[in-house]
Amino acid sequence: MDNTPPELLPCADKMAFDTKSEAQTEANVLRWRRGTKLKVYKCRYCGLWHLSTHSTGSGSP
Ligand SMILES: [Zn+2]
Repeated sequence: MDNTPPELLPCADKMAFDTKSEAQTEANVLRWRRGTKLKVYKCRYCGLWHLSTHSTGSGSP
């Protein structure tokens, strides 16, 4: 059972974007569709761009 995938990144299940503008566009869409404020950041694992929910308050994930 050593079938380890080559891409074992902590962000494997996240949406990834090639450019910041793409991520920012998606963030804007989700913002007015769901009212969710998202933060765009460049991932240090895969080098792509992700969206992060900016949650304030309790530290529960
Ligand atoms: Zn990533």
